Amino acid sequence: MTYTEKHFETAIQIGLSACLGGDRVRFDKGHKRSNFCMDEFVNHVEYVKFCPEVAIGMPIPRNTIRQVRYGDVIRVCRPDGSGDVGPKLTEYGERIAKTKAKELSGFVFCAKSPSCGMERVKVYNDTGTGASAEGIGAFAEQIMKHNPLLPCEENGRLNDMHLRENFVMRVYVYKSWQELIRKSVSKKVLTDFHAQHKYLLMSHNYGAYRTLGRLLAEGDANECEALAQDYISGLMQALKKPASRKGQANTLAHLQGYFKNDISQVEKAEMVEAINEYRKGLVPLNVPLTLLKHHLRVHPKAYLQQQVYFNPYPSDLKLRFAI
Ligand code: SF4
Repeated sequence: MTYTEKHFETAIQIGLSACLGGDRVRFDKGHKRSNFCMDEFVNHVEYVKFCPEVAIGMPIPRNTIRQVRYGDVIRVCRPDGSGDVGPKLTEYGERIAKTKAKELSGFVFCAKSPSCGMERVKVYNDTGTGASAEGIGAFAEQIMKHNPLLPCEENGRLNDMHLRENFVMRVYVYKSWQELIRKSVSKKVLTDFHAQHKYLLMSHNYGAYRTLGRLLAEGDANECEALAQDYISGLMQALKKPASRKGQANTLAHLQGYFKNDISQVEKAEMVEAINEYRKGLVPLNVPLTLLKHHLRVHPKAYLQQQVYFNPYPSDLKLRFAI
C-alpha cells in the first residue's frame, strides 16, 4: 500500500501558523516562512492558516507580547504586564480546537511564540529579570488539549530530518484513520488496518504492536467505537517517537525473511550487507528498502504488498534518503 494524497478521498488539511505560510502577520509586519512547508509539503497538502493574535483583533504591526508569571497565573501581555490577551487567545483556541481543527490531519506551529509555541515557550517572572522555558502558547495549548491525537510539530523542529519524517508519517497514518472511521467501523476493519500497519508500528515499538494486536483480538465486537478509540490512541502514541536505527534494522531483517526461498545466496548476502550498513549509519534507510522493494516486485507477496511501511508518504519528499 502506498500513502500519497491520491490514496485519500479528500485533501489532507494541515493547520499552519499563518506567519510560517509567509503571511506578514507578525508584530513587526514580518513573517517566518517555512521552506519545508511552503516549497515541499505544500505539493501534497492544503494549509488552513491561523494567526490567533490577528484573529482576536490585534493590529499589524503591534506591541510585542510575552508570557509572564504572576503567582499561579500566566498572563500573555506586554512586558510591563499590561494588556493581557491570554483569555481571548484561549477562548479563540478552544473554539478552533472544537470546530475546524477536527478536520485537520496535522498542525505546524510557530516555535517560541507566546500564542503559537508548542512547547518550551519562555515564561518571564513578574520582575522581568528571568525566564524559564516552561510555557505553551495559549492558542496551541487549546488545539493540542482538545485534539490529543492530532500530529503537531513546530517549524524549528521540522529542520531535524528524523522529526520531520516522523511528523509526515503520522499525518498520513492519521488521515488514513480519519477516512476509515467516517465509514462504519467493525472489528474486521480495525484488524485489517492493524495488519497494514504491522511493520510500520514494529519499526517504532515492537511491544506496542503486540499490545494493540491483543487489544483488537480480545476487544468486544459490540463496542467497536470504544475499541477504535483505544486502538488509535495507542497507535498514535507509539508512532510519536521516531523509529530508532535498531528498530528499523530489525524490521528490515524480519521482512527479508519472507524472501528466503526466493532469492539467491548472493542476493541474500547483498541484502544482509545493506541492512548492516544501515544499522551502522553508513547508508540511509532508502538503500536496504530499495533492495527489499525490488525483491517484492520480482516475488510479489500479498501480505507485504499491503504494508504501509514500504511507502508511508510520497517519495518525492525524500525523507528516507535523510534518515
Ligand atoms: S506566531 Fe502565531 S500569533 Fe504570532 S504571528 Fe505567527 S501566526 Fe500570528
